[in-house]
Amino acid sequence: MSQLRLYNTLTRRLQPFVPQEPGKVKMYHCGPTVYQRPHIGNYRAFLFADLLRRTFEASGLEVLQVMNLTDVGHLVGDADEGEDKLDAQARKEKVDPWQIVATVSEQFFQDLEALQIRPAHHYPKATDHIEEMVAQIEVLLEKGHAYRVGDNVYFDVHSFPDYGRLSGNKVADLEAGARVEVNQEKRHPADFALWKSDPRHLMKWKTVFGEHGFPGWHIECSAMSMKYLGDSFDLHTGGEDNVFPHHECEIAQAEGVSGKTFVNLWMHTKFLQVDGGKMSKSLGNVYSLDDLEQRGFEVLDFRFLVLRAHYRASVNFTWKALQGAAEARKNLHDFRGRLQAQLRGPAMQAEAGEHSGPARKAFWDALHDDLNTSAALAALFELRNAYTQKGMEATEAADALDLLNLADDIFGLFDQESADSGDLPDPEIDALVEERNQARRNRDFARSDQIRDQLAAAGIVLEDGPEGTLWHRA
Ligand code: AMP
Ligand code: ZN
Repeated sequence: MSQLRLYNTLTRRLQPFVPQEPGKVKMYHCGPTVYQRPHIGNYRAFLFADLLRRTFEASGLEVLQVMNLTDVGHLVGDADEGEDKLDAQARKEKVDPWQIVATVSEQFFQDLEALQIRPAHHYPKATDHIEEMVAQIEVLLEKGHAYRVGDNVYFDVHSFPDYGRLSGNKVADLEAGARVEVNQEKRHPADFALWKSDPRHLMKWKTVFGEHGFPGWHIECSAMSMKYLGDSFDLHTGGEDNVFPHHECEIAQAEGVSGKTFVNLWMHTKFLQVDGGKMSKSLGNVYSLDDLEQRGFEVLDFRFLVLRAHYRASVNFTWKALQGAAEARKNLHDFRGRLQAQLRGPAMQAEAGEHSGPARKAFWDALHDDLNTSAALAALFELRNAYTQKGMEATEAADALDLLNLADDIFGLFDQESADSGDLPDPEIDALVEERNQARRNRDFARSDQIRDQLAAAGIVLEDGPEGTLWHRA
């Protein structure tokens, strides 16, 4: 089998994936800022994290996965400016920021479940880790990577020669491009805040740095990732906007504290665009999962839309594209149903072969090529076309079904809830189908219709054909 190769933003190359500890993967994902319900763009980034998780697990690796919740310190502007997003939202809604955190986090977890995203092992909240952040800042001060100005603390980017390696930015260029009105108390314009003091801030802590302070956004992610995954771990992800300054700053902080390589592999998802551009409130196209459902789509159709594209390719969300994804997903679902129907019943039971068909190879080769989900799905559709054109022998069908089940395991294509819960067991369905056939032979159409309705209510579709009645789950 081919080897998994992934694109590393840090080296700008595809690299074979080799975990630090054989058989185990440790990864961290920048999670949502919980000031309002995450939009479908955010979910593109989180679905990518889930794709990594599922691919590793399907390959037999044990995964330790952490995604944080940012509930303080994420400012509206990138360069340490503007209001804190949570503070601003709380003032706007005239409610307690902690209430917003609670409501939005709950909504976020419901969304993850609806999207069939496997729960991470930890979802640390920034406000629960103030102590860890303060401890890291104290080490940075001791080691000369940070300096205090009154109750504020800044990271000195000139103390860390690698600053800019991830994003390709040069400190000199950053400084030349810095606006004149930037915070005058910093030693250099490119320095960034680790701790900020502001008595008017709604969420604030008394620490060694002063009475009313709060952390900078970047220190949150170094403190939380290192707490749960150690000084050095395999993989860190985020959307493409996280490369700079967020991840650049995380590296400087983490490596400044530990002196070790923080993360081996940095991966970034390209932004989801809507109607060909950025989502914006003024255009009214900042969609939530509810908006999709209100238009009659399933949340999983969106999952499919995202996975149809490679994570580093642009995806343009339009209702038409979502419609296309919904149809394609239904086609795969029907294909699986037909295979299941063909393989049902003792006469048709076939032992799945070696599972070594060309489609399986194409599927894995695509995934191993930097998670090319687009090509992996294309391999499934090719299989479906072959089936539609000339059908399949039982062994071949069993092989195809096994591959579709594997694809479902990695992509979360089909609704697991309806498949797993409350379903009629197969033998019961077989018996009802047989009873219906008998009723039809006896021209007892009232009874046969009744059975068809009963099965339909349980999500079972019947197809009467020349070889008898086939059934599959809707
Ligand atoms: P935020 O809630 O702004 O902290 O963002 C949470 C995650 O979503 C981050 O990893 C962002 O990079 C990512 N993200 C934000 N907008 C988009 C988008 N339109 N497409 C893909 N990822 C996004
Ligand atoms: Zn982060």
